[in-house]
Amino acid sequence: MQGSTDGKKRVVVVGAGTAGLSAGLHLGRLARRRKDIRVILVDENDIHLMSHLLRDYLTKKRGADEVSIPLETALDGTEIEFVRARVTGIDTGRQIVKTDQGQQGYDYLVLAPGSVADYGGAVGTREHAYTLKTMDDAEALREHVVELFKRAARESEDEECKSMLTFVIGGGGVAGVELAMSLSEWLDELRLSHWVPTEQIEVVLVEELEVVMPSYPRQVSEIAESVLREKGIRHLYGSPIVKVTPTHVHLSDGVRIPTKTVIWSGGVRANLLIKEAGLRVYADGRAVVNSHLQSNYSNIYVIGDAASFVDPRTGLRAPDVAQVARREGVTAVQNIYADIVGGISRTCRGGIFGYIVSLGERRPLVVIGERVFPEPLAKLVERVRDFMALYRLGGVKFLSRCLSRRRGEVSGSESQEEAA
Ligand SMILES: Cc1cc2nc3c(=O)[nH]c(=O)nc-3n(C[C@H](O)[C@H](O)[C@H](O)COP(=O)(O)OP(=O)(O)OC[C@H]3O[C@@H](n4cnc5c(N)ncnc54)[C@H](O)[C@@H]3O)c2cc1C
Repeated sequence: MQGSTDGKKRVVVVGAGTAGLSAGLHLGRLARRRKDIRVILVDENDIHLMSHLLRDYLTKKRGADEVSIPLETALDGTEIEFVRARVTGIDTGRQIVKTDQGQQGYDYLVLAPGSVADYGGAVGTREHAYTLKTMDDAEALREHVVELFKRAARESEDEECKSMLTFVIGGGGVAGVELAMSLSEWLDELRLSHWVPTEQIEVVLVEELEVVMPSYPRQVSEIAESVLREKGIRHLYGSPIVKVTPTHVHLSDGVRIPTKTVIWSGGVRANLLIKEAGLRVYADGRAVVNSHLQSNYSNIYVIGDAASFVDPRTGLRAPDVAQVARREGVTAVQNIYADIVGGISRTCRGGIFGYIVSLGERRPLVVIGERVFPEPLAKLVERVRDFMALYRLGGVKFLSRCLSRRRGEVSGSESQEEAA
C-alpha cells in the first residue's frame, strides 16, 4: 500500500500528545484550503493529556476535565481525521502504519509517540514500581496510597505500619523533586482524615548523583534541596536503586528501606515503536533526526520525547519539555507542507526561553537562563501557564474551545446536533 490512493497526500501523525497534537493542529491550519492534503491523527487514547498537571490529578487538586482535553473537542471544526487505535508497527518499505484497528498508508509520517520509563539495571522495578506518565498511572497510585493509609490505621505492628507509610521516589531530577514535594503535601492532607501515626509518614527521594536536579543551574538545585529539607523529605544521594521487591527497596551501597511504594522517576527512553520501525536511534531509543526533524527516511519525521534533536546552533540536545515538543511539531509539518507545495525547509530551534519548577504548592520558581525568580512573578506565571500552553498548542479558537468545555458549555456543532 502506498500513502495516497485518491491523489491526495496523506500525512499520518502518530501520537496526540504535546508534539503530535501541535503538529496535527498546525498542519490542519496550513492545509485548510487545500483539498489535496489529508491529515490523519492516530492515538490509542481519545484525550490529549497535559502531563505537567498529572501530579495535581494524582493528589486530587484537579479533576480529569482539568488535566485532559477530549480529542473530539480539540479537533472540533478542523479537517483532521482522528483514528483511535494502538499503533503496533511501521512498515517503512510499504509506507504503512499498522494498528490494532487496521492499516494507515502514508506519504509523510510524523512520529510523536513520546517516551516510556527506563528502569536501567534496577531489578524488579518494572514489576513493582509505580510510574506517573498517564492518568491510569495516577489513578492506580492514588488508590494504592489511600489503601495503605487505611491499612496503616488498622495496623498494630509499628514496623509494618512504617513500611506502609514510607514512600520512595527513585530519581532526583526535576520530575522526582516536584513529585516528592506534591506527594509530601498530599500525605499531610491524608493524615488529617486517617488515624495514622504522623511520625511514621516519610517521603524518601533517592538520587544516584551527588545532587538533586543535576542538569539545572546550581542555584535551583540548592533551593530545591533546602525546600526538601524544610518539608522533611529524606534525600539519599550517590547510590542508585538496584532492586525493588514488594516489601523493600535496595540501594547500591547496601541500604535497604522497607516500603510498599516505590515511584520510578529515574529516566525515560523513547517509545519502542521508533527502534522497531528500523529508524536510526541512539542508545536510549530516540531517533536520530536532522535539523529539519527528518529521520533516516526523508518522509518520516520524529518529534517530541521520541526524538533526539541536537540544535546545530548550540550543539546541545533539546530538553524533553513541552515547549520544545510543540515547536518541533510546528517545524516538522511546516517542512512537510513546504515539500508538498514547494517552499523552503525550516531548521528547528532546540533552546528554551525559561521554565517553571514547582517546589510544592506555594513554591514555584521561574528560571530564565541563570536567573531565578521566586514569588510573586513565579506564582503569576504558573497561573497563566495553562492558558499559554493551550494557546501555543492551537491558537485562540482552540484555547476558547477548551475553556468553554471546561466551563461545561456545549460547542456549536454539539448544540446543533442536540437541536436536530
Ligand atoms: C508527570 C510529568 C510532568 C511533566 N511536567 C512538565 C512540565 O512541568 N513542563 C514541561 O515542559 N514538560 C513537562 N513534562 C514533559 C512533557 O510533558 C513532555 O516533554 C511532552 O509531553 C512530550 O511530548 P510528546 O508528544 O513527545 O509525548 P506525549 O505528550 O507523552 O504524547 C505521546 C502520545 O503518544 C500516544 N501513544 C504512545 N504510544 C502509542 C501507540 N503505540 N499507539 C498510539 N498512540 C500512542 C500517547 O497516548 C500520547 O498521547 C512532564 C512529563 C510528565 C510525565
